[in-house]
Amino acid sequence: MIIIKTKTSLTAYLKTLIIKNLKLGFVPTMGALHQGHLSLIKSARLENDYVICSIFINPTQFNNQSDFKHYPVTLEKDIEKLINEGCDVLFLPNENDIYSQGSLLKKFVLDDLEHILEGFYRPGHFQGVCQIVDILLDLVHPDNLYLGQKDYQQCMVIKRLIQQQNFKDITIKIMPTIREKDGLAMSSRNMRLSHAQREKATHIYKSLIYIQQNFKKIPKQDLEQNAKQHLEMSGFKVDYVSIVDAQTLQNLNNKSTIALIAASIDDIRLIDNLIIN
Ligand code: AMP
Repeated sequence: MIIIKTKTSLTAYLKTLIIKNLKLGFVPTMGALHQGHLSLIKSARLENDYVICSIFINPTQFNNQSDFKHYPVTLEKDIEKLINEGCDVLFLPNENDIYSQGSLLKKFVLDDLEHILEGFYRPGHFQGVCQIVDILLDLVHPDNLYLGQKDYQQCMVIKRLIQQQNFKDITIKIMPTIREKDGLAMSSRNMRLSHAQREKATHIYKSLIYIQQNFKKIPKQDLEQNAKQHLEMSGFKVDYVSIVDAQTLQNLNNKSTIALIAASIDDIRLIDNLIIN
């Protein structure tokens, strides 16, 4: 695996691949890699000639400075894991190279998606996500882009970005959420959980399963309320428990339903979701 640290060297390197007409799979991450990330790399490895992973903790998508400051960094282990998965290139830029000084940050039209659920509780977050993904896609221009369903609303936002910008030939592959044995969705932020917090964290998945099992029996508002209460009693501060249409994240329409939860244990904010039908 080669490690490339600047936009200029990445562009120069990728030119040599285009000449060879290779199919490119791209996995953007913020590092602190776990099996969830590695499942994306594995799929990319199977479906492409060439696999590129990026690690960049993107400051513009953090609405909370403490979250940014405490975001885990495990670069040496990440490199080892990527080599083991057969990743070809790790793009590891720094902030000054990505956001050249003095250059204006782009603004993206995301409509309602920007202001509901994650967008409501993390103002500016999805603009930041679009800023970095736009820059990375412009550089890498992969055939396939690998994303995790764990960040369901983010996948919808990136789909919209791809439609709006000049990326229509990039195929998005949304991969299933990889979980710990007890159901907790793998997340880099899980590394910050103490033993006691880690025990509590399983209640998010348990609440999603409760919603899934009772969806046909209990009215939606009651399910949301019951799950919220359960999480609060387990020590969470709950941002939302929301059962919505899976295509729009708005009111149910009986086609496809998703339950999404965002809740914090102390200052560690976790999100998860489950398709209900
Ligand atoms: P992050 O490093 O958190 O920005 O995540 C990079 C990519 O990995 C995103 O597309 C995430 O949705 C995906 N991802 C994170 N956690 C998981 C997981 N548990 N299972 C599958 N994909 C995941």
